[in-house]
Amino acid sequence: MARSYEKHKPYFELVEALERSKGCALCAMRKRSTRRYAETLLYENVNDPQFRRRLRDARGFCKPHAKDILECGDGLSAAILYQDQVEDTLQFLARLEGMTRRALRKKARAEWIRHEPCPLCEHEEETDIMRIETLRNHLDDPELRQALEKGPGFCVPHLIPTLERLKDPEHRRYVERLHREKLSRLLDELHEFIRKHDYRHTHESYGREADSWQRAPRMLLGDF
Ligand SMILES: [Zn+2]
Ligand SMILES: [Zn+2]
Repeated sequence: MARSYEKHKPYFELVEALERSKGCALCAMRKRSTRRYAETLLYENVNDPQFRRRLRDARGFCKPHAKDILECGDGLSAAILYQDQVEDTLQFLARLEGMTRRALRKKARAEWIRHEPCPLCEHEEETDIMRIETLRNHLDDPELRQALEKGPGFCVPHLIPTLERLKDPEHRRYVERLHREKLSRLLDELHEFIRKHDYRHTHESYGREADSWQRAPRMLLGDF
């Protein structure tokens, strides 16, 4: 008999995301939580020396998360954080000065690459695991199953860690089968979209397959 877990806020948020998201619900939840965390960091942590040090060690936010930071629109906080980054970059360039081309090729890239994870990437990894664990603990719940079955399913980068965390083989078979069905349906829609592009079928109007070419990369890579 599977252990039954009480339903709390994370469960209801997960079911709601599964019901409402047009793409991977875990991507949609991650996007919202990253945005909230980015706003909090800018509001509360800009003057925290420990956070500033951590961000310097990470060589700033990664490219997609730098975009999130800029989209928060908090220019002053962003300027304070990027002041550190630009200072560090000037020091980096000073270290390259006078190097031979050979030494430059050996050292420059190796030194420039990120040696610590971006704080927002780290936050995403941690919170993804919490959401996957909520799913795992409630996977026998009919309401959750119904929402999962009706929706488009998880993207592959979220499906793999989900499968990895499902201890019950029945749960794993259920999620695998469900996603094989969903991806087979997507493949059929891509076939149909391509078929309707043939000049002999151009008079036929588009149905569900109309945006299949936009959904396919998002299911394989995660939402973007
Ligand atoms: Zn996803
Ligand atoms: Zn990042």
